[in-house]
Amino acid sequence: MDDHDHDGLVERYGDCIVCLAEEPPPPPPKRTAEGGPACEFCETSVVAVSPDTYRLVQGWIRPRKGGGTNALRLATEQHRYACSDCVMRLSSGKPTGPTLPTT
Ligand SMILES: [Zn+2]
Ligand SMILES: [Zn+2]
Repeated sequence: MDDHDHDGLVERYGDCIVCLAEEPPPPPPKRTAEGGPACEFCETSVVAVSPDTYRLVQGWIRPRKGGGTNALRLATEQHRYACSDCVMRLSSGKPTGPTLPTT
């Protein structure tokens, strides 16, 4: 797509949101040597459906009056998993992904 104001968007958001939206799809989910689900971070084998395993989902949220966001709606499975150790370790630190530009 070449008909967008690339330089203007970069100037406004610090990154071109049109080009970002056209990024190639992410790599396939991590798997163990046996083909089972593995933690996306440490790549150790995990049990897909377990209280100790986090599942990555994609869904829709909206801001709530008074701050924060409401519950995730229409969540779709990404078939990516993480062990609770990694999630706890990472969530106590910095965000792991890019943040959306705010206007
Ligand atoms: Zn662009
Ligand atoms: Zn892990």
